[in-house]
Amino acid sequence: MGAPIIFSGIQPTGRKHLGNYIGAIRQYVEGQERGEPAIFCIVDLHAISVAYDPDDLRQRLYDTTAVLLAAGLDPERCVLFRQSDVREHTELTWLLSGVTAHGELNRMTQFKEKSGQQRELVSAALFLYPVLQAADVLAYRATEVPVGEDQKQHIELMREIARRFNERFGGDLVEPEHRIPAVGARIMDLQEPERKMSTTGATEAGTLYVLDEPGAIRKKLGSAVTDSGREVRRGEDKPGVTNLIEVLAVARETNPEAVEAEFAEAGYGDFKTAVAEGVVELLAPVRERYAELRPDEAALEAVLAAGAEKARALAAPTVAEVRDLMGIGPRAYS
Ligand code: ATP
Ligand code: MG
Repeated sequence: MGAPIIFSGIQPTGRKHLGNYIGAIRQYVEGQERGEPAIFCIVDLHAISVAYDPDDLRQRLYDTTAVLLAAGLDPERCVLFRQSDVREHTELTWLLSGVTAHGELNRMTQFKEKSGQQRELVSAALFLYPVLQAADVLAYRATEVPVGEDQKQHIELMREIARRFNERFGGDLVEPEHRIPAVGARIMDLQEPERKMSTTGATEAGTLYVLDEPGAIRKKLGSAVTDSGREVRRGEDKPGVTNLIEVLAVARETNPEAVEAEFAEAGYGDFKTAVAEGVVELLAPVRERYAELRPDEAALEAVLAAGAEKARALAAPTVAEVRDLMGIGPRAYS
């Protein structure tokens, strides 16, 4: 096996949270060392699938770009770009929708959850979201997709789409593998630890943002829901404590067992204070670097434009081949 081709996308919701950081962004930074290439895309076209404001979308896109750079993405070592700049993604979406079953899209958990949250319009874009996601990944023939646990079902679907395309048209699209972190693949809401920490549909007090000030982090972790017991250990009956143990293990770059051992004699109060300090230390450098980078939107645009050029060169041959095999346009290869 050669070096992996790594691809992942992240929504331009600006206020990225600790779940995004631990489940996705941290893996991106590590992926830069292994991927040839490592490709990261800010998916503005996915963002229009739910209610949004156009001016706000542009601002949040810059926020997200600055967060990723602040977290350690280096445009010299990865391809970082804005999805809508590379038109191949939308074209491939339509082509692949021809080999995607309606029934499969109907079964997607994320569609069911997010369509239930919409007040005015359940858009066709929300339904087609996984096909655009499949196009994002398959266009680059990516072998590895670093994501949180919630994206497993979408990765399975894109594998199925690639298989079906290959069978039907004799193509050689690559079925990507998902890569989820061993610890922290599903960070839970601090107030409702049965649900994932999330941009949409989580509690405000239970969501730690990457750009939160230390005071806010301490406050939210201080009031994190635990349980009526007193032991700092993981267990199905202890979702709140289990989540905090995983968070501290990630922040300290150790494992959950070591955290349990260290806090075996401690009460919840001391434990939560330690988690807060760990998270403050984890996120402070990102927040500080973000403050330096975010004001210069022209510099952020320049990074995205250079990334888009590299991405286009990678995606275009795949889309040309898919078109050709599907009989779209004049025959390109004889
Ligand atoms: P939304 O709720 O609008 O879908 P989100 O919080 O899931 O937003 P995304 O931009 O869709 O944010 O996700 C970016 C990445 O973060 C994805 O790889 C996703 O799997 C990961 N991720 C999201 N939430 C969590 C979480 N609670 N724990 C671990 N990883 C997560
Ligand atoms: Mg999501």
